[in-house]
Formats: sequence, C-alpha cells, structure tokens
Amino acid sequence: MTQRESSRPVTVGKYQLGGNTKVYIQSMTNTYTKDVEATVKQIKQLTEAGCEIVRVAVLDMVDAHALGEIKKQISIPLVADIHFDYRLALEAINQGVDKIRLNPGNIPKREHVMEVVEACKAKNIPIRIGVNSGSLPNRMAPTPENMVATAKHHVDILESMGFYDIVLSLKATDMNLMIEAYRLAAKTFPYPLHLGVTEAGTAFSGAIKSAMGIGILLAEGIGNTIRVSLTDNPILEIQAAKEILKNLGLKDKVPNLISCPTCGRIQYDMIDIAKRIEQYLLKVNKTINVAIMGCAVNGPGEATHADIGIAGGKGEAILFRRGKIIKKIKESEVYDVLVEEINNFDDSIQDHEKGA
Ligand code: SF4
Repeated sequence: MTQRESSRPVTVGKYQLGGNTKVYIQSMTNTYTKDVEATVKQIKQLTEAGCEIVRVAVLDMVDAHALGEIKKQISIPLVADIHFDYRLALEAINQGVDKIRLNPGNIPKREHVMEVVEACKAKNIPIRIGVNSGSLPNRMAPTPENMVATAKHHVDILESMGFYDIVLSLKATDMNLMIEAYRLAAKTFPYPLHLGVTEAGTAFSGAIKSAMGIGILLAEGIGNTIRVSLTDNPILEIQAAKEILKNLGLKDKVPNLISCPTCGRIQYDMIDIAKRIEQYLLKVNKTINVAIMGCAVNGPGEATHADIGIAGGKGEAILFRRGKIIKKIKESEVYDVLVEEINNFDDSIQDHEKGA
C-alpha cells in the first residue's frame, strides 16, 4: 500500500485527507484576510478554477475575527495559517475554520499549546505542521534528516498531548531536497503529507519545478494534498496543480488538450485556436480528449484517437468525433464548432463506436 493510502486519515471539512487515493488541490489567498469581500471573491474564483482547500494568512486578531464571515460565504474547507500566537489559533478555531497551520514548537508555553490542542480536539480540527528548509531552528543545515528531525520535534509535542490529527509538510526551494525530505517523512510518520516546493518562482519556471518535485513524489504514491506555489495569480496555481494530477491519472473530469507543435506544413492559424480552446477547457469538468492538429499528415491520426478533434487544411479543417470524420469546417468557424462539440460531449460514453 502506498503512503497515500496507508496514512492516518484526518478530516478537513467535507474531505478526508489520508487513508485513500485522493489528492486534494489547495492554494492560498494573497488578499488581506481582514478584507472579507476581496478574500471571499478570490476564494470563489479559486473554487471555480478547481481549488478544493484554501488557506488564508492570519496575522492579527482582526484577521482572525474575519474568518467566520469568510467561512460562511465559501463552499470549500478553510485553513488558517498562524505563526507563533496561540491566541490567534484559538480564535480561528472559535470562528469555525476546518484546519490550522501551526508549529507547536514555536509557541513558548506548553499550556498554551495544550489549549490549542484541546480546542482542536473538541471541534475535530487537524493541525498542519509546516517545516521549511529556509527556516530550520538553531541554524541547522537544510538536509532531509534535519527537516524530518524538526518535524518530529513538533509532532512529539502534539503526540505527547494525545493529538494525532496531524498533517505534515516539508517544503524546500531546492527540488531535490524537497523530494528527499518527503521520502524520509513518508517512512518516518504515519500522517498525511501536504506536498509543495516552496518559493518555487514565477508561473513558468515555478510550475515546471513544482510539477517535477510534486509529480515525482505523487508517482511514488507519496502525498495527499498539493500546493503549487507561484509568484502570480493563485488561479495559475490551481491550473498547474490540475495538470500535474491529470497527467498522473490522479484526477478525472479534467479535459486533456492534444495539439501538435506545428511545422512548415501548417495552413491555418492553429496556435491561436489551440490557446483559446485551452482557456475554454479550464471551465469544463469532463473527461475529454480534444485534439487540435495542424495538417493532414499526422493530424487525422491523433484527431481520430481523441474524443473531439480537428485536422487543419488550407483555410479549413476536418472535424472528427469519437474516431469518425464528421464534416469539413471553415477556419473562421473552427473555434465555435469545437466549443459546441465539447459542450455536447457526453463523457459517460467512453467507447468511440457507441457515440459515432
Ligand atoms: S500535425 Fe502537421 S502541422 Fe502539426 S507538426 Fe505534424 S506535420 Fe506539422
């Protein structure tokens, strides 16, 4: 059994993290949490894009007091990200959050940690311990062993209080360090793992780095929830996360776009159509393969294997549906026809023959 399936299940709102094959997508808002309207607006956009768990930063009591109102207006589990101040954790729990991110070793007094633990126990709320390679205590060198030892220090505090609803993250900016740290954590702890490459960078390079680090671990059966960290609009984090999960076969109801790289044989404006269809597919919740191919040389082959496909010609394209040629369409109509075909596609019928 993989770490994903054998990890101790914890409840995060309507979801069970750990103890199953599910990998949840999460992100973090970059609004001020005390600005309820802006935060709720961003969470709703993230939810529409496919975010399943959302975290907000809680810097002070004004932020903490806003959590209840935010929670009321959203439909996905809410996580409060807290550093050092146990009173913020108590207020977040009081406001009804579904999980808190807090390192108990950073709270000086044991009785204060105990208060947080008791409040979490009473409401069945898990705690995520987050270890980052850049902020290990006592100037420890950032190694997988030291990261796991730091996590263990926090875990021991919670376990000594009879608290086991724990989620762990061991993020690093260095992808190889991150992979090794999670591998070691998966062997060391029974708890669900939250995967991420921290401070991964801007959208393009950060998405690649995250896809490699997170993807390698997921492929090994490690990881129960993922956060792609990008220096950009968090909506892009969700899009990247969905791509990672889809390509590993860990998420269904996500469309797949097949498109050729184009070459000198192309005779219509395929790149523009492919980009527009890719944007359109972000809002589609179907298991569907859409192929957009440049020409009649390789095009029909891929297009016929897809659920919906086009192979371009001179100012026109051939439309395929479930392996069969349907009709020729003018270049100017390709986008609209594809959108209509995608909308009409029934992904409960997977046999190409049946729907032809
Ligand atoms: S499908 Fe046609 S246009 Fe696209 S790369 Fe292949 S040969 Fe070139």
